Amino acid sequence: MIAIIRKGTEEEKIISVSDMLAESGFTVNRFKNDGTDILSVEGETDMLACFDIVEKVIDVRERCRLSSRADHPDSTVIDIGGVKIGDGSFAFIAGPCSVESEEQIITIARAVKNAGAVMLRGGAFKPRTSPYSFQGIGEQGLKLLSAAKKETGLPTVSEITDISLIEYYEDVDMLQVGARNMQNFELLRELGKTDKYILLKRGFSATVDELLMSAEYIMAGGNSKVILCERGIRTFENSARNTFDVSSIAVLKNRTHLPVIADPSHAAGLASFVRPLTFAACAAGADGAMIEVHNDPVHALCDGIQAITPEEFESAVRVSANIRKAVSEG
Ligand code: PEP
Ligand code: MN
Repeated sequence: MIAIIRKGTEEEKIISVSDMLAESGFTVNRFKNDGTDILSVEGETDMLACFDIVEKVIDVRERCRLSSRADHPDSTVIDIGGVKIGDGSFAFIAGPCSVESEEQIITIARAVKNAGAVMLRGGAFKPRTSPYSFQGIGEQGLKLLSAAKKETGLPTVSEITDISLIEYYEDVDMLQVGARNMQNFELLRELGKTDKYILLKRGFSATVDELLMSAEYIMAGGNSKVILCERGIRTFENSARNTFDVSSIAVLKNRTHLPVIADPSHAAGLASFVRPLTFAACAAGADGAMIEVHNDPVHALCDGIQAITPEEFESAVRVSANIRKAVSEG
């Protein structure tokens, strides 16, 4: 349950209600959103509405009935052709921002597989902010991604921007809904009717609640094979491409049974920041990371500035294994 506290409520009153709930056995977390105080109370209670400091009570269980951990306490493990995401391991999905040529995608696929990736990424239909930027090589890109899958055995993920393109994605194992489409509800509804694995990325201005509601759209259509992805959000901070919301990983792992991965590449925007953000995601309990890797970042047609090399990727995989081990032992 979520209690929205009336604006202007004195601090002592909020503390006293929060203490009272805690004494009654509820786990209470306190947040601030846009200057509004919010109490998140685990468990069902009619008590909240009785406090005069509470303006509104939201039953999150009701709103997120399919993705919520409340009714599904066990974490969902997604199995993509033997690759497990959500089973306690830290899975790496890697590859270029965009498929550019056969040689490029096969070279990168081999390199990331050798370094420890369990899935291959590669964009073909790219929703770019500017209409003048490289838009991906479309259908041909998906054919080349298939060739790389055949060559390496790595299952693949690629972004879909419009349901009318679904026929091209037959051999793609997981469909990515990008940040720009997280609230394209028609697309989400249509994907809910498919039996494809879906990687749902957080929109850059979306809250965790909104991300979960978007997952509900897919699940309500009958497809529960959904993985969530934190990829950085837009804040006042502009020293990195986005602000990597590492707390969302811990919050999501608490709120939903769905696997949660991170995309440190789009959060960082710069290759040298990608490894530290990957480590943060791993330590925070994410089920994996999707990382942009390129064999020739300087000449990449898209997002080369944030692409790490296969060697850097190999080191990220190695260090993350140690982090995950330390966290699980602790
Ligand atoms: C991508 O994964 O290449 C991409 C465009 O990501 P996002 O939708 O998170 O910006
Ligand atoms: Mn990219």
